[in-house]
Amino acid sequence: MKFKYCPICGRKLEEKYSWDEGGVPYCPKDDIMFFDTPTPCVIVAVINKDQILLLKQSYIYKNSKVLLSGYVTNGETVEQTVHREVFEESGLKVKDLKYLGSEYVSNNKKEIIMLTFMAKYDGGKIKKSSEVEWVNWSHIEDALCEMKEDEVGKRIVRKVLKELNYTGKKAYRCDDNSCDRDV
Ligand SMILES: [Zn+2]
Repeated sequence: MKFKYCPICGRKLEEKYSWDEGGVPYCPKDDIMFFDTPTPCVIVAVINKDQILLLKQSYIYKNSKVLLSGYVTNGETVEQTVHREVFEESGLKVKDLKYLGSEYVSNNKKEIIMLTFMAKYDGGKIKKSSEVEWVNWSHIEDALCEMKEDEVGKRIVRKVLKELNYTGKKAYRCDDNSCDRDV
């Protein structure tokens, strides 16, 4: 999101040249440059042996399950975001976080940098938040089929399968789109 007005004092921003960034929106009153940066969010694949935690949120995808996700908020580390979001959305505790890389998503209004993790289940019982339509464990071999609309999520699950040293074929049976498993 490119800033046009100062979020502090409301005045129209000027352009200030920063030698490595080019023109950057700048408020001379508050002396702040407002860089055009993406919003950080986390996506977490919570794993419990051969199970993976999936959610349904039909405002995102009508016919697809997704991984747990949430925005990083001020004052917390990304690792804290992972623990907080997993607990808020599912009631579970996790441990052994492993960073799996990032995904960049942009549509006309939002630019999001998704920091992706896998984490091990570390206790608690599933307790769905009101934000979430449905949350439960799925077998890791069914995840790609159940997440058919979520391309980013499926890329993360493929990384998880590698991390788990999965050598079977069953998990990938939907890659040719012939599976019509109902979610
Ligand atoms: Zn200002």
